Amino acid sequence: MTPFAYQVEQFADLRILRYEIPNFETLPLNKKAYIYYLSQAALCGRDIIWDQHNEHNLFLRGCLGIIYKELDRINSSFQKLELYYKRVLFSNGLHHHYSTEKIPIDLTAKELDEWVSCFSSQEINKLGLKSSDELKTKLSSLLMDVEYATKRVCQDEGKDLVQHSANNFYKDLAQHEAEAFYSKLKDEDEPHGISHGLNSRLIKTDAGIREEVWKLNGKYSKAIEKIIYWLNKAAEVAENKQQKKCINLLCEYYITGDLKLFDEYSIEWLQEQTGSIDFINGFIEVYGDPLGFKATWESLVNITDEEETAKASIISEQAQWFEDHSPVMPHHRKDKVKGVTMKVINAIMLGGDCYPASPLGINLPNAEWIREVHGSKSVSLQNISHAYEMASLSSGVIEEFAYSIDEIKLHKLYGSIADNLHTHLHECVGHGSGKLEEGVGSDALKAYGSVIEEARADLFGLYFMADEKMIELGLVPHMDVAKAQYNSYIRNGLMVQLARIAEGANIEQTHMRNRQLIASWVLENTRESNAVVKVEKEGKTYFVINDYKQLRLLFGQLLKEVQRIKSQGDYLAAKKLVETYGVHVNKEIHSEVIRRYSKLNVAPYSGFLNPELTAIYTNQELIDVKVSYDESFMEQMQRYNVEYNFEMGNSRP
Ligand code: ZN
Repeated sequence: MTPFAYQVEQFADLRILRYEIPNFETLPLNKKAYIYYLSQAALCGRDIIWDQHNEHNLFLRGCLGIIYKELDRINSSFQKLELYYKRVLFSNGLHHHYSTEKIPIDLTAKELDEWVSCFSSQEINKLGLKSSDELKTKLSSLLMDVEYATKRVCQDEGKDLVQHSANNFYKDLAQHEAEAFYSKLKDEDEPHGISHGLNSRLIKTDAGIREEVWKLNGKYSKAIEKIIYWLNKAAEVAENKQQKKCINLLCEYYITGDLKLFDEYSIEWLQEQTGSIDFINGFIEVYGDPLGFKATWESLVNITDEEETAKASIISEQAQWFEDHSPVMPHHRKDKVKGVTMKVINAIMLGGDCYPASPLGINLPNAEWIREVHGSKSVSLQNISHAYEMASLSSGVIEEFAYSIDEIKLHKLYGSIADNLHTHLHECVGHGSGKLEEGVGSDALKAYGSVIEEARADLFGLYFMADEKMIELGLVPHMDVAKAQYNSYIRNGLMVQLARIAEGANIEQTHMRNRQLIASWVLENTRESNAVVKVEKEGKTYFVINDYKQLRLLFGQLLKEVQRIKSQGDYLAAKKLVETYGVHVNKEIHSEVIRRYSKLNVAPYSGFLNPELTAIYTNQELIDVKVSYDESFMEQMQRYNVEYNFEMGNSRP
């Protein structure tokens, strides 16, 4: 048997990997069927995320598909087209998936003419346009105008974040109008408030400001109808009654758009603990909206990794111990930490905002009041991180950026255990820890809320990794595991991750901001302890940890402050912390990192192809589901373009 091919291909700054579902073939038919139907529902929302990212994305995808099919392969611009098309497909639209900046393409007027000539007049009409001139004008502004739709998520201080963001969450209104709209709704709200604005676009018309709700017979109705169809099929073969109840509630929510039902569903979903197959499907994360109201559509179908889960559940059981020993101020600790569950899962199907760039861990639901009353469910994706690990062992990155042979050895020995453990602590006890002071709203930190929250969970994990308790619980074979994690966190936060951003740019992405925030804060606050120092060796810069105990204390100190900021809703302190440490890049180090990294020829971002699941029917009865891993990136993307293309009509200008 040939070994599983984790790496598929690489282009621009992107690396395409593949993940494997362990033992899929041996699952009983009813589980395979359940997985298959949920997976179909996961793929049916693909158009939604495209349109949410920008109102012209589906139009652009349609155009690029035609040009890609028609343009002569020997045309000088074909390679430009192919690269750009692949990048757009990866990003679910015309903005980079991570930086959210417009993906550049260097196209001449003549080349654009050739591209436009690929369209028949029938196709132009189908796109809702009258003439090829109109098509040319539109493509020109989307592809070549650097002033147009510059950035998907604008977080620049002092700008109108709504008007400067090219996402499709707000139409024809200003930031203050959107904020006023939702603060009014909140004023009228009950104590356990629903997440207003989560599943709608806010638009301003002559009749006033109103929401276009994403639901059946609302916006995205065609995709949602398909999602409901497959969810209903799944409900028929669910593993247990609770799963069925969840799915029914979710469908009702998709039909009505009623956010109260979404909260009800979330609570029931939290209670479902016994099945081995689980899924996420809905409007979940708000990172794509600088105001933090609107959620992007995502889906993930997964199956429990029993072996790893047994290990991780040890952490869950100790949730209260962690809370009681957390270095935050005592009145910011929870008296009782509830319902922290920790599950290690294997991904089966990634959809929407989870595809192809997959998360490594997920902690849901997001509604703060549900988390406080009912707890949260936390998962880490074992086969995804395993695929990363397998692909990266041979990349040379560690050898280039680690200071010493010992640091490299430590990484090879414990890097993978350390990373798993940190993810578990982050997702399970980190996010679930701490409490808000009375009267403080969960959105008090506004645009800085996500960074502060991620920093908080990361710090919680970093602090406890180096606790003797880890040995006592049998979670690590040696305390050096924490050292391996500290090394890689500092190395990544101050250097390696900078390879992902363009020279001269600032850090925009939440997780990158939080990592640099933590690493550069400890570097600056290490003072006489010299816990972390900058070292030059043979013309190269390294950040070296001299004192792991001191570094741990610094992590604890910062955790205390970050928790205080969140607990008190101290917006100004959040802003200062993030702007001082998380946003701006040391220019010299940055260009050095880019220089050193580029020699390794490793793309800084990765995404995953899904396995292909094929249902086998006899007399319209499902008798088996086959799994295969043979598709190339373009094959999978083009298949999705055809099979899950429901919303094209909505993108007409
Ligand atoms: Zn997190």
